[in-house]
Amino acid sequence: MAGHARPLQLTVMEHQFSNGRTLKLVVGDITRQQADAIVNAANSALAGGGGVDGAIHRAGGPSIMQELDKIRAEVGGCPTGHAVVTGAGKLPARFVFHAVGPVYRDGTHQEPAWLASCYRKCLELAEENDVKTISFPSISTGVYGYPIRDAAPIALRETSRHLDRPETTVQAVLFVLFSQADYDVYSACLRATSTRDG
Ligand code: ADP
Repeated sequence: MAGHARPLQLTVMEHQFSNGRTLKLVVGDITRQQADAIVNAANSALAGGGGVDGAIHRAGGPSIMQELDKIRAEVGGCPTGHAVVTGAGKLPARFVFHAVGPVYRDGTHQEPAWLASCYRKCLELAEENDVKTISFPSISTGVYGYPIRDAAPIALRETSRHLDRPETTVQAVLFVLFSQADYDVYSACLRATSTRDG
């Protein structure tokens, strides 16, 4: 409708590090993005749920839950701030890293440390599995209630630090944000840090 057209939103943003590694933000569905590893925002029972977890299991098929059943039988689950690895079933990836983010209470119950740990554990798993491209959702900012304005700087800081390391096998990190509003928060934060760090 004339007069009601919204300005065209930028839905892809890329930051390149001096070593050639890239960090990219897109709006989309993480189950449709090709990557060596896709990160899932899982719960500590590894039991499956809604949100991105439900989407990953639906799109990936039953083999992912079968692998999680084995992990659960062996080790009982996955503590907050940690991650476990499975195959990716029918997803366009080799692995799914199931990371357990913190449930947000008020920000003073170690939530920032647990959230940072999730990203670091996934990046460690990426190194161990020779993963060159890895896509993340915005962990904990859905049902777990982490304010996205507080979570985005942590997510971007941990992944940027990793990409900046000269020896990392990870070539590219992709954040797949599920709404334009989430993308806008991440892109503003990335723009602020890239301007500050040159
Ligand atoms: P958590 O319990 O860690 O908060 P959720 O799955 O509820 O996990 O939400 C995490 C983020 O993932 C939210 O921003 C949500 O909008 C987003 N999300 C949900 N489905 C998808 C999807 N298919 N692709 C990418 N992100 C998704």
